[in-house]
Amino acid sequence: MFSKVLVLLLSMAATLLQGKDCALQIAGNDMMRFDKQVLQVDSACSRVTLTLTHSGQLPKAAMGHNWVLTKAADKDATVAAGVTAGPQHGYLQQGDARIIAATGMVGGKEQTSVTFSTSKLKVGEKYLFFCTFPGHVGLMTGNFLFTAASKAKPADKAKPANKAKPADKAKPANKAKPDEAKPANEAATKTMPSSATPSPQ
Ligand code: ZN
Repeated sequence: MFSKVLVLLLSMAATLLQGKDCALQIAGNDMMRFDKQVLQVDSACSRVTLTLTHSGQLPKAAMGHNWVLTKAADKDATVAAGVTAGPQHGYLQQGDARIIAATGMVGGKEQTSVTFSTSKLKVGEKYLFFCTFPGHVGLMTGNFLFTAASKAKPADKAKPANKAKPADKAKPANKAKPDEAKPANEAATKTMPSSATPSPQ
């Protein structure tokens, strides 16, 4: 009994020391789209588990999706190497050091996930996630934001107060422009019952 409590406490302490596990979800469909353009975790997350769901019907060979994370600058080379590696390697070059995290390929109705450490990520670096299936990267790319853990922020420190602008300072008064004068009777005649006597000119 006591030992169970002890184990629980120890594991809780370990969790606190190691940071937290965070979870992300994303789906890819038969239209070659992810359902999110941006994914974000903060630096309080020591590990991230990304779950990719293929929400479509098409088989992996025709409309496969994976989820690959690299620095933004590494995206194009990683995709090119993946296409060369071919379907037998899930369109990823094996041992590619540019890849921070990657799932396997899934087809319609399949799901997969990957868990990775955030220890390699740097706040402020630009990361992208994308699918390396040939031809997909153009539509299936999104921003992965690794942000500083949100400690109690100094509340709205910098936000300048919304000063009421001198509202009508510059607006020129709506002077009746002389050329706006429409031919006066044009509008009037439209609504005028036909029996009405035309006003004398
Ligand atoms: Zn894809």
